[in-house]
Amino acid sequence: MDGRPLLIVISGPSGSGKGTLCRALRQVFPDLAYSVSVTTRPPRPGEVDGVDYIFLTPSEFEKRVQEGKLLEWAQVYENYYGTPREPVERWLEEGRDVLLELDVQGALQVKKLYPEALLIFIVPPSIEELGARIAKRGTDTKEVIKKRLSCAKEEIKAAAKYDYVVVNDHQEEALKKLVEIISMEKMRRQNEEGSGHATTQP
Ligand code: 5GP
Repeated sequence: MDGRPLLIVISGPSGSGKGTLCRALRQVFPDLAYSVSVTTRPPRPGEVDGVDYIFLTPSEFEKRVQEGKLLEWAQVYENYYGTPREPVERWLEEGRDVLLELDVQGALQVKKLYPEALLIFIVPPSIEELGARIAKRGTDTKEVIKKRLSCAKEEIKAAAKYDYVVVNDHQEEALKKLVEIISMEKMRRQNEEGSGHATTQP
Protein backbone atom coordinates (compact mmCIF):
# COMPACT_ATOMS: atom_id res chain seq x y z
CA MET A 1 0.00 0.00 0.00
CA ASP A 2 1.36 3.46 -0.94
CA GLY A 3 1.02 6.85 0.71
CA ARG A 4 0.95 7.65 4.41
CA PRO A 5 0.40 4.55 6.51
CA LEU A 6 -3.04 3.95 7.94
CA LEU A 7 -3.50 3.12 11.59
CA ILE A 8 -6.80 1.26 11.67
CA VAL A 9 -8.54 0.64 14.98
CA ILE A 10 -11.47 -1.76 15.07
CA SER A 11 -13.75 -2.02 18.10
CA GLY A 12 -17.09 -3.56 18.85
CA PRO A 13 -18.81 -5.36 21.67
CA SER A 14 -17.89 -8.97 22.26
CA GLY A 15 -20.05 -11.05 19.92
CA SER A 16 -20.16 -8.32 17.25
CA GLY A 17 -17.99 -10.52 15.06
CA LYS A 18 -15.07 -8.09 14.99
CA GLY A 19 -12.49 -10.83 15.56
CA THR A 20 -13.65 -12.80 12.52
CA LEU A 21 -13.84 -9.61 10.45
CA CYS A 22 -10.30 -8.63 11.45
CA ARG A 23 -9.00 -12.04 10.43
CA ALA A 24 -10.79 -11.75 7.07
CA LEU A 25 -9.38 -8.23 6.57
CA ARG A 26 -5.87 -9.51 7.07
CA GLN A 27 -6.45 -11.99 4.26
CA VAL A 28 -7.71 -9.23 1.96
CA PHE A 29 -4.75 -6.97 2.88
CA PRO A 30 -1.87 -9.38 3.54
CA ASP A 31 0.58 -6.51 4.11
CA LEU A 32 -1.48 -5.15 6.98
CA ALA A 33 0.56 -5.41 10.19
CA TYR A 34 -1.47 -6.83 13.06
CA SER A 35 -0.58 -5.97 16.61
CA VAL A 36 -0.79 -8.83 19.11
CA SER A 37 -1.95 -7.41 22.46
CA VAL A 38 -0.74 -8.31 25.91
CA THR A 39 -3.37 -9.38 28.43
CA THR A 40 -3.78 -10.71 31.93
CA ARG A 41 -6.82 -12.73 30.83
CA PRO A 42 -6.24 -16.48 30.92
CA PRO A 43 -6.15 -18.11 27.47
CA ARG A 44 -9.43 -19.52 26.14
CA PRO A 45 -9.34 -23.04 24.72
CA GLY A 46 -7.50 -22.97 21.40
CA GLU A 47 -5.82 -19.61 21.96
CA VAL A 48 -2.08 -19.59 21.36
CA ASP A 49 0.39 -17.45 23.34
CA GLY A 50 2.08 -14.96 21.04
CA VAL A 51 -0.54 -15.45 18.30
CA ASP A 52 -3.91 -14.51 19.79
CA TYR A 53 -2.46 -12.61 22.74
CA ILE A 54 0.73 -12.44 24.73
CA PHE A 55 -0.51 -13.78 28.05
CA LEU A 56 1.04 -12.07 31.09
CA THR A 57 0.69 -12.23 34.85
CA PRO A 58 -0.70 -9.05 36.47
CA SER A 59 2.80 -8.14 37.73
CA GLU A 60 4.38 -8.63 34.30
CA PHE A 61 1.66 -6.41 32.83
CA GLU A 62 2.21 -3.76 35.51
CA LYS A 63 5.94 -3.77 34.76
CA ARG A 64 5.30 -3.05 31.07
CA VAL A 65 3.00 -0.17 32.01
CA GLN A 66 5.63 1.28 34.36
CA GLU A 67 8.34 0.98 31.72
CA GLY A 68 6.18 2.82 29.16
CA LYS A 69 6.18 -0.20 26.87
CA LEU A 70 2.48 0.02 26.07
CA LEU A 71 1.03 2.45 23.55
CA GLU A 72 -2.31 2.23 25.34
CA TRP A 73 -3.84 -0.04 27.90
CA ALA A 74 -7.21 -0.53 29.56
CA GLN A 75 -9.09 -2.65 32.02
CA VAL A 76 -11.85 -4.60 30.29
CA TYR A 77 -14.11 -6.66 32.55
CA GLU A 78 -11.71 -8.03 35.22
CA ASN A 79 -8.64 -8.12 33.01
CA TYR A 80 -6.04 -5.79 31.59
CA TYR A 81 -5.23 -5.43 27.91
CA GLY A 82 -2.56 -3.37 26.18
CA THR A 83 -0.85 -2.69 22.86
CA PRO A 84 2.95 -3.12 22.75
CA ARG A 85 4.34 0.26 21.67
CA GLU A 86 7.54 -0.70 19.84
CA PRO A 87 6.13 -2.80 16.94
CA VAL A 88 3.36 -0.31 16.14
CA GLU A 89 5.77 2.65 16.06
CA ARG A 90 8.22 0.69 13.94
CA TRP A 91 5.59 -0.43 11.40
CA LEU A 92 4.29 3.11 10.99
CA GLU A 93 7.84 4.38 10.51
CA GLU A 94 8.35 1.71 7.85
CA GLY A 95 5.21 2.99 6.13
CA ARG A 96 3.14 -0.12 6.87
CA ASP A 97 -0.57 0.02 7.56
CA VAL A 98 -1.42 -1.29 11.03
CA LEU A 99 -4.54 -2.94 12.41
CA LEU A 100 -5.43 -2.79 16.11
CA GLU A 101 -8.42 -4.51 17.67
CA LEU A 102 -9.18 -2.55 20.84
CA ASP A 103 -11.92 -1.76 23.29
CA VAL A 104 -13.42 1.74 23.29
CA GLN A 105 -11.08 3.14 25.97
CA GLY A 106 -8.03 1.95 24.04
CA ALA A 107 -9.35 3.24 20.71
CA LEU A 108 -9.90 6.72 22.14
CA GLN A 109 -6.40 6.75 23.66
CA VAL A 110 -4.95 5.87 20.24
CA LYS A 111 -7.01 8.61 18.56
CA LYS A 112 -5.49 11.12 20.97
CA LEU A 113 -1.97 9.95 20.15
CA TYR A 114 -2.64 9.62 16.41
CA PRO A 115 -5.46 11.95 15.38
CA GLU A 116 -5.29 10.50 11.87
CA ALA A 117 -6.08 6.98 13.11
CA LEU A 118 -9.12 5.47 11.40
CA LEU A 119 -11.61 4.30 14.03
CA ILE A 120 -14.20 1.76 12.92
CA PHE A 121 -16.90 0.41 15.21
CA ILE A 122 -18.60 -2.91 14.45
CA VAL A 123 -22.14 -3.30 15.76
CA PRO A 124 -24.35 -6.35 15.83
CA PRO A 125 -27.78 -5.98 14.19
CA SER A 126 -29.44 -6.06 17.65
CA ILE A 127 -28.73 -6.72 21.34
CA GLU A 128 -30.81 -9.95 21.09
CA GLU A 129 -28.63 -11.18 18.24
CA LEU A 130 -25.53 -10.27 20.24
CA GLY A 131 -26.72 -12.36 23.22
CA ALA A 132 -27.41 -15.30 20.93
CA ARG A 133 -23.94 -15.07 19.35
CA ILE A 134 -22.10 -14.91 22.68
CA ALA A 135 -24.11 -17.87 24.01
CA LYS A 136 -23.43 -19.86 20.82
CA ARG A 137 -19.69 -19.31 21.19
CA GLY A 138 -20.01 -21.35 24.39
CA THR A 139 -16.92 -19.91 26.07
CA ASP A 140 -18.66 -17.77 28.70
CA THR A 141 -20.82 -18.54 31.73
CA LYS A 142 -24.36 -17.10 32.01
CA GLU A 143 -23.10 -14.54 34.51
CA VAL A 144 -20.32 -13.41 32.16
CA ILE A 145 -22.76 -13.23 29.22
CA LYS A 146 -25.06 -10.98 31.27
CA LYS A 147 -22.13 -8.70 32.16
CA ARG A 148 -20.90 -8.59 28.55
CA LEU A 149 -24.36 -7.64 27.31
CA SER A 150 -24.72 -4.76 29.72
CA CYS A 151 -21.21 -3.57 28.82
CA ALA A 152 -22.14 -3.89 25.14
CA LYS A 153 -25.05 -1.48 25.60
CA GLU A 154 -22.66 1.07 27.13
CA GLU A 155 -20.00 0.48 24.48
CA ILE A 156 -22.44 0.95 21.60
CA LYS A 157 -23.11 4.48 22.89
CA ALA A 158 -19.44 5.27 22.19
CA ALA A 159 -19.88 4.39 18.51
CA ALA A 160 -20.67 8.07 17.82
CA LYS A 161 -17.03 8.91 18.55
CA TYR A 162 -15.81 6.64 15.75
CA ASP A 163 -15.16 7.62 12.13
CA TYR A 164 -17.30 4.78 10.77
CA VAL A 165 -19.87 2.35 12.13
CA VAL A 166 -20.39 -0.94 10.29
CA VAL A 167 -23.40 -3.15 11.07
CA ASN A 168 -22.37 -6.78 11.01
CA ASP A 169 -25.59 -8.43 9.92
CA HIS A 170 -24.12 -10.54 7.13
CA GLN A 171 -20.40 -11.07 7.47
CA GLU A 172 -19.58 -10.87 3.77
CA GLU A 173 -21.42 -7.59 3.42
CA ALA A 174 -19.70 -6.18 6.50
CA LEU A 175 -16.30 -7.25 5.17
CA LYS A 176 -17.06 -5.59 1.83
CA LYS A 177 -17.91 -2.36 3.63
CA LEU A 178 -14.70 -2.51 5.67
CA VAL A 179 -12.61 -3.05 2.54
CA GLU A 180 -14.37 -0.11 0.86
CA ILE A 181 -13.76 2.17 3.85
CA ILE A 182 -10.08 1.27 4.06
CA SER A 183 -9.50 1.59 0.31
CA MET A 184 -11.30 4.94 0.24
CA GLU A 185 -9.30 6.30 3.19
CA LYS A 186 -6.06 5.14 1.57
CA MET A 187 -6.98 6.98 -1.60
CA ARG A 188 -8.07 10.09 0.27
CA ARG A 189 -4.75 10.24 2.13
CA GLN A 190 -2.76 9.69 -1.05
CA ASN A 191 -4.61 12.59 -2.66
CA GLU A 192 -4.01 14.82 0.35
CA GLU A 193 -0.34 13.91 0.27
CA GLY A 194 -0.19 14.78 -3.42
CA SER A 195 -1.73 18.18 -2.68
CA GLY A 196 0.84 18.87 0.06
CA HIS A 197 -1.52 18.34 3.01
CA ALA A 198 0.53 18.15 6.23
CA THR A 199 0.51 14.98 8.33
CA THR A 200 -0.53 15.35 11.96
CA GLN A 201 0.93 12.10 13.22
CA PRO A 202 3.59 12.49 15.94
P1 5GP B 1 -11.44 -10.71 24.69
O1 5GP B 1 -11.14 -11.03 26.11
O2 5GP B 1 -12.88 -11.07 24.32
O3 5GP B 1 -10.44 -11.29 23.73
O4 5GP B 1 -11.32 -9.13 24.54
C1 5GP B 1 -12.06 -8.29 25.38
C2 5GP B 1 -11.99 -6.88 24.84
O5 5GP B 1 -10.65 -6.37 24.96
C3 5GP B 1 -12.36 -6.73 23.38
O6 5GP B 1 -13.20 -5.59 23.25
C4 5GP B 1 -11.03 -6.49 22.70
O7 5GP B 1 -11.17 -5.72 21.50
C5 5GP B 1 -10.31 -5.70 23.75
N1 5GP B 1 -8.85 -5.70 23.57
C6 5GP B 1 -8.05 -6.66 23.06
N2 5GP B 1 -6.78 -6.27 23.04
C7 5GP B 1 -6.75 -5.00 23.53
C8 5GP B 1 -5.70 -4.05 23.75
O8 5GP B 1 -4.53 -4.25 23.47
N3 5GP B 1 -6.08 -2.87 24.29
C9 5GP B 1 -7.37 -2.57 24.59
N4 5GP B 1 -7.62 -1.35 25.10
N5 5GP B 1 -8.36 -3.44 24.40
C10 5GP B 1 -8.08 -4.65 23.87
